[in-house]
Amino acid sequence: MRSMLLAASQNVWLRDHAVNFPFVRRSVSRFMPGETLDAAIDAAQALLQKNIGSIFTHLGENVADRAEAHNVSDHYLEVLDCIHQVNLPTEVSVKLTQLGLDLSPDLCFENLERILQHEHPSKTVWVDMEASNYVDVTLEIYKRALRAYPNAGICLQAYLYRTKKDLADLLPLRPAIRLVKGAYKEPDSIAFRKKSDVDENYFVLAQEMLRAQTAGSCARAAFGTHDVQLIRRLSDYVVGQGIAKTQFEVEMLYGIQRAEQERLAQAGYRSVVLVAYGTYWYPWFVRRLAERPANVWFLLRNVLA
Ligand SMILES: Cc1cc2nc3c(=O)[nH]c(=O)nc-3n(C[C@H](O)[C@H](O)[C@H](O)COP(=O)(O)OP(=O)(O)OC[C@H]3O[C@@H](n4cnc5c(N)ncnc54)[C@H](O)[C@@H]3O)c2cc1C
Repeated sequence: MRSMLLAASQNVWLRDHAVNFPFVRRSVSRFMPGETLDAAIDAAQALLQKNIGSIFTHLGENVADRAEAHNVSDHYLEVLDCIHQVNLPTEVSVKLTQLGLDLSPDLCFENLERILQHEHPSKTVWVDMEASNYVDVTLEIYKRALRAYPNAGICLQAYLYRTKKDLADLLPLRPAIRLVKGAYKEPDSIAFRKKSDVDENYFVLAQEMLRAQTAGSCARAAFGTHDVQLIRRLSDYVVGQGIAKTQFEVEMLYGIQRAEQERLAQAGYRSVVLVAYGTYWYPWFVRRLAERPANVWFLLRNVLA
């Protein structure tokens, strides 16, 4: 089911047609508050009332036009201004293929740099990690950005065998890292297949990040996961090591594990929600379906509704 859905997430016909079906639109509304920036801002304000932080991402990927990639960075500049005006602590997370990576790494870097220049240095500009063919170039661009902008952050994926080494290479540069399990379809030759292996690798890498954060070589260690068991295991480690609760940051996607998001915030940990918005939601939404088969039943229930 996961493989089928991940293949469907790349299907151009489905992307162009499925988004028009009302039951698909109803289903996606579970994972995003709306298509507009205003909807994202309303959601962030509601989260803040519960002491939950937020990160915005404007959905889109694999932009094939220079002007469009430039427009995406323009959009993020406006987003940063709006966030500032409404006085939210919200950060942003960007996909490099949306900033023109497929066209040219230099063009992509320029677009990323515009956003970094515009953001307040106390806030992180996160760079998402996409499919494995982009990992090398994403890390190169990230390292280049980090040298000039210490507030640049990167996502690493625990399902890839290479991530242990990538983490070790990054730590001397004092990165900000969000660790996730990984959302793309990757071959067994480069990625753990079994969930238990991915979880174990995640736990090992997470402990390294927390140790590095305490030692000052990781500017920020954030954990992007909804896996309650893994979160408990990590929070036990944090408490056992005497690490301050505010140094343990868990990031989740809007609409998923809301009770756990609130529990973490109430317990004094850093709880942050990534709020996605925009009209180009099809591939992102289908990756969310692939993460949990029960979401497909939710989609089917919406067909009947
Ligand atoms: C803040 C954030 C940023 C991310 N950025 C990236 C990125 O840049 N690159 C990348 O490859 N991936 C990214 N991801 C996605 C990530 O790689 C995983 O695919 C996703 O988080 C699901 O894995 P999990 O850690 O929640 O664990 P899983 O083992 O998949 O899930 C654990 C439990 O969480 C719940 N759950 C998980 N996913 C869903 C869902 N979609 N709907 C409902 N319940 C769910 C279920 O109860 C499930 O049993 C990001 C995730 C987050 C939270």
